[in-house]
Amino acid sequence: MFDIGINLTSPQFAKDRDDVVARAREAGVSGMLLTGTNLHESTEAQRLTQRYARCWSTAGVHPHDSSHWTPQTADALRQLAQQPGVVAIGECGLDFNRNFSTPQEQEYAFSAQLALAAELNMPVFLHCRDAHVRFLALLEPWLSQLPGAVVHCFTGSREEMQACVDHGLYIGITGWVCDERRGMELREMLPHIPAERLLIETDAPYLLPRDLSPKPASRRNEPMHLAHIMERIAHWRGEEAQWLETVTDDNARKLFGVAF
Ligand SMILES: [Zn+2]
Repeated sequence: MFDIGINLTSPQFAKDRDDVVARAREAGVSGMLLTGTNLHESTEAQRLTQRYARCWSTAGVHPHDSSHWTPQTADALRQLAQQPGVVAIGECGLDFNRNFSTPQEQEYAFSAQLALAAELNMPVFLHCRDAHVRFLALLEPWLSQLPGAVVHCFTGSREEMQACVDHGLYIGITGWVCDERRGMELREMLPHIPAERLLIETDAPYLLPRDLSPKPASRRNEPMHLAHIMERIAHWRGEEAQWLETVTDDNARKLFGVAF
């Protein structure tokens, strides 16, 4: 299994990062993509790819951090993106749910990162929340110049999912789908996502699956829980988990060009 979204640089993993990675391996996670959410975290994520085997990273600035974007940020990201282990630009995109940065700041940083990905011929790791229309409008002109793109932690409507698939995007699904309160719409659309566009992720330490049993004492999510998420997604799609694992692993290899 390949976890396409794990925030391994999080302070929540500071005390036992080696154990977290070891537990993930034991649980069948054969590769991971470490999320970079700003310049500092992206630099740290790249550093971790040199410490842990079969880990790769993204380099980018999250929409929440877009207010800190400067012309120097693009230059620094360009340097970082060419270091060993970095395989995608992101996490980048739009989040109009909380607007920690203004929509204008978010759109500027997003567009600049799409341009950088096109320049470097790298796939993009995308975040979109409550911003579907502007998100696709800004992304669409770049798609022919990008080798690929995934909307990570997809939580939109079925129509939005279909529009993303029609634009050639991959769809990243997290343990959000295991939430019996807010994950139902996502659960119902699962069978309609083409298998060859599906990727799975924990987004750890966030989004601990709510239906784990026994429930871990800590509220912290870990990449080892990817096996549970995979099993539930396969169940709700009416597929064998083993088969879906093979397909989603191939999708990750194809999109990110990684060997694991
Ligand atoms: Zn995100």
